[in-house]
Amino acid sequence: MTILIIEDEKKLVEILKKALRGEKYAFDVAYDGEEGFQKALKGNYGLIILDLSLPKKDGMDVCRELREKLVHTPIIMLTARGVIENRVEGLDVGADDYLLKPFSLDELFARIRAVLRRRRVVEVPLLSVADIIIDGKKHEVTRKGKVVFLTPKEYRILNTLVRNKEQAITRQQLIEEVWGPQFVETNNELNVHIRYLRRKIDSGRVRPLIQTIRGVGYALKEQ
Ligand code: CA
Repeated sequence: MTILIIEDEKKLVEILKKALRGEKYAFDVAYDGEEGFQKALKGNYGLIILDLSLPKKDGMDVCRELREKLVHTPIIMLTARGVIENRVEGLDVGADDYLLKPFSLDELFARIRAVLRRRRVVEVPLLSVADIIIDGKKHEVTRKGKVVFLTPKEYRILNTLVRNKEQAITRQQLIEEVWGPQFVETNNELNVHIRYLRRKIDSGRVRPLIQTIRGVGYALKEQ
């Protein structure tokens, strides 16, 4: 597996290269956003470490545009701006996790392992429930053969529920799967995403698939 580093700070790149080499990861480097975007688009990378502020193309744009082009390589975003909004925004445009600069290499490797572990679980080729099919390879959801457009978060929520169908999933489990273990819910984010997801997945159904389990969380039930 090759990791793509998109970072313009040469000193940090050198540190990352040395550390990745030490952990036996192969890597490739791009020093600006445009180069990184092109490489990520063509290359077959296992993971991308993406700096937020980059010359030529901002890290946020790189991430958003990659996801729009259906490149689903896991992305860990690096940010020097310590503002919480940026973290949320980074995850909203499809990053898998973020790290605040300065970070320790131990922390970086822990995040890399966690992101890859999560991805492995998510990448099941085909999952189906009722009239819904999730194609993990294409990251595409269809209902009665028609494509349902889901945001990355809605996709992950549905994926988690389907993988665990007929079982209750706690709110905390879902939050960890979708936002990562560091996330602290402040505005009922999960409920909001579930509401949108229901509109897309359960509209017009006599018996909705996504059911609320009072005091626990949610379950996806086929009948
Ligand atoms: Ca930078």
